[in-house]
Amino acid sequence: MIHTCRHCDAHLSERFLDLGHAPLSNAYLDAAGLQAAEVTYPLRLNVCAACRLVQTEDYTSAADVFRADYAYFSSTSSGWVAHAKRYTEMIVERLDLGADSFVIELAANDGYLLQHMQAAGVPCLGVEPTTATADAARAKGIEIVEDFFSMALVETLTAEGKSADLILGNNVYAHVPDINDFTRAIATALKPEGVVTLEFPHLMRMVELRQFDTVYHEHFSYLSLMTVQRIFETNGLRVVDVEELPTHGGSLRVYGCRADASHVASGNVASVLAEERTRGMDTPVFYEGFQAEAEAVKDAAVRFLLDAKRDGKTVAGYGAAAKGNTLMNFAGIRPDLLPRVHDAAPAKQNMFLPGSHIPILAPSALDDARPDYVVILPWNIADEVRAQLSHLAEAGTRFVTFVPELKIV
Ligand SMILES: [Zn+2]
Repeated sequence: MIHTCRHCDAHLSERFLDLGHAPLSNAYLDAAGLQAAEVTYPLRLNVCAACRLVQTEDYTSAADVFRADYAYFSSTSSGWVAHAKRYTEMIVERLDLGADSFVIELAANDGYLLQHMQAAGVPCLGVEPTTATADAARAKGIEIVEDFFSMALVETLTAEGKSADLILGNNVYAHVPDINDFTRAIATALKPEGVVTLEFPHLMRMVELRQFDTVYHEHFSYLSLMTVQRIFETNGLRVVDVEELPTHGGSLRVYGCRADASHVASGNVASVLAEERTRGMDTPVFYEGFQAEAEAVKDAAVRFLLDAKRDGKTVAGYGAAAKGNTLMNFAGIRPDLLPRVHDAAPAKQNMFLPGSHIPILAPSALDDARPDYVVILPWNIADEVRAQLSHLAEAGTRFVTFVPELKIV
């Protein structure tokens, strides 16, 4: 099968990462599901030699990926809600947004961010294709269009006279199968001097910090600023500023406007582009060798769990998120090595992780179990989790993270 680049149509011949086959990362199973066959898809990334877009290999349609029972609610992470509040305060002041402005959030999830925009008195609209999270946002009084953001949707919004002073998308840009259509839709939905901000994990940090477990089928693109600039310019947008953020192991917040808007680009754009070039992101060398880094993390994780089992230590996981599923499935970790995972989201409790079939329990069950080790799978919120579980540390539990390298505290 011949694969072509989602952005520029070039033939894809350079492999970046091969994690074997895995089920969709959010395909949690109930007890009955354990009795049925499970569908897996290849989990492989290629890099385009022409535009350097790192992308998942095509395997299925997006409709299969974002199923109605998709269970992630942004508001379950208090750190992420606080991040959204700080962003809202910053952007309202920076763009001087008020009662006459209009804001559109792409992938508004459960209203974790727009609740702050609404409290600031700025009219807003969320676009969110997933029914359960869209309903949660509506319960907060937020208007939601239950759909994927696309040119087709923007044509409807434009016909209703809706165009935006601000369009924002946090952790959605990398999850879009047709990145050209999505980008063109942003350019079309902005007012002439409107601004878009997009946050996504920075490919430079992903490689530097060996974050191969951020790879899953729903995460189609792995982005550098140089590639985003190219995608913007092909689709009627221009990059005007960029900030480096610590979220998700190292993210970029890119600011864009329409190609013909009057905004002047900040010096940050040139400096991040220069750093990417210094690291060789415009050459094949940067992309080679990541497979070996991923395997080193996997080997250390499996070795730790085998040693703990041999020594009679008890181990529990924390955080039934996509990252953990990628690692469990790549490493072949099953309940014999990690008997259970605890998670605060009620929708996941009493379910089972896809592929590994590790049971998911409430965090309160940790109080009775008092394991010797708690492995925090979503390493990006490790500080938050350790603070929540500090009473276990006092009773002797130690905390473990696997990425970028095995760490026990
Ligand atoms: Zn390309």
